[in-house]
Amino acid sequence: MGSSMSDHIFTSTETVTPMAWADQALCAQVDQDLFFPEQGEPNTAAKRVCGLCPVTTECLAYALAHREPHGVWGGLSVKQREALNREIARQGAPRRGDGSPVRRRGTA
Ligand code: SF4
Repeated sequence: MGSSMSDHIFTSTETVTPMAWADQALCAQVDQDLFFPEQGEPNTAAKRVCGLCPVTTECLAYALAHREPHGVWGGLSVKQREALNREIARQGAPRRGDGSPVRRRGTA
């Protein structure tokens, strides 16, 4: 048996600081291969598990921030995460309801 998703989370980045949310990762309780299907294989089973996971938001935020290049994270495939990251980059900084940019203190 290979490593768990939690192991992957802890070793896939330069930092090895464990994240509290990973302790609640539902994928740690199922077959890890579901989350890393071969090209052309379905990932629906993994996404179903993610849909029941209590830390989907945290997991997805982590995967987006670290641009995880493999597997299903936070219920999204690599292509879906790439598209979401492109959309986030396209939208740029957060905006108010009227469309004006939110300025942080100390910025012009
Ligand atoms: S959202 Fe999915 S990949 Fe992320 S921790 Fe939960 S079950 Fe695992």
